[in-house]
Amino acid sequence: MTSMYANALDTPAPIATHPLQWRETTRPDPGPGQLLIEVVACGVCRSNLHMIEGDWADDGIPAIHPIVPGHEVTGHVAALGDGVTEFALGDSVGVQPLWWTCEECEYCTSGREYLCHRRVITGEHVDGGYGQFMLATAAHTYAVPAGLDLIDAAPLFCPGITAYGVVDKLDVGPGDTVAVFGLGGVGHMAVQFARLTGADVIAVGRTPEHLAVALDLGATRGVDSTDPDALAAIAGTAQAVLTFADSDAVTAQALQTLAWGGTLVTAVPLNLTGFPFNQGQTIKASILGSRDQMRTVLRLAAEGKIRTVTERFPMSEADRALDLLSRGALRSRAVLHN
Ligand SMILES: [Zn+2]
Ligand SMILES: [Zn+2]
Repeated sequence: MTSMYANALDTPAPIATHPLQWRETTRPDPGPGQLLIEVVACGVCRSNLHMIEGDWADDGIPAIHPIVPGHEVTGHVAALGDGVTEFALGDSVGVQPLWWTCEECEYCTSGREYLCHRRVITGEHVDGGYGQFMLATAAHTYAVPAGLDLIDAAPLFCPGITAYGVVDKLDVGPGDTVAVFGLGGVGHMAVQFARLTGADVIAVGRTPEHLAVALDLGATRGVDSTDPDALAAIAGTAQAVLTFADSDAVTAQALQTLAWGGTLVTAVPLNLTGFPFNQGQTIKASILGSRDQMRTVLRLAAEGKIRTVTERFPMSEADRALDLLSRGALRSRAVLHN
């Protein structure tokens, strides 16, 4: 038996009780159509924290026990299963939350595989990237373009694709205004994709640090969401509003900012009451993105048009990174690395 080290979760529990254990475990062998990835880096996502703390236990997540979390993964191909011809040993690759889809249903056959009802999610249904090695399916593995740093590239595979999926649902361009609410890992990527459309981008956030990063990434202006006057000044001005903060207060601010006839796209749950019909507005929900969209994100990153902002931690310190995330003490996306 070949072994490896990984952060294993036996039973979900509050992160302060240290439910993740960095320990020796079995290194898996790739089956047909699969490959083994020697992990270089894995981003730390708030959804990892939800699963680890048991928020999704009633929905059957994690689906296996123990489980290795992590779904924004980069690394090198370490072994190939039968029938895998599109990758070679040593290739730089990445994996997003979509680990497997059925390839047969109406969604899989229309380029919307992220809606496949049988989708298997990396690090939730199968072991993910919080370890030294991980299995992937070749059909959902991506070549990482040369020139991209594999640690910085990891968040492209969740915040990157999520933000791209949101902005791709808009029809905006020069002369329009896009407001982005919630300037965490996804929001910072969305600011950049929105700017690439040519629209003006208003970044709305709570902390000076997040606003400063958003301006550095191309936001036209920043608005302090704790300042009611500043929010009132942008009411009804944005043709598109993007929201990434799971908070009723932020949802209300986002709707107040949306122009008549505008479109709000959300990547978090919304609680709505009294949504008006007489302003002709549209609400769309967005989850992840397709393989084609993921390849576009990687190309834009390789061309230098977008970038991630990361804070690095050794893989064995996943627990510490998650604790900082839970206390709101991270300045940017935490990325674990081997
Ligand atoms: Zn994620
Ligand atoms: Zn399907």
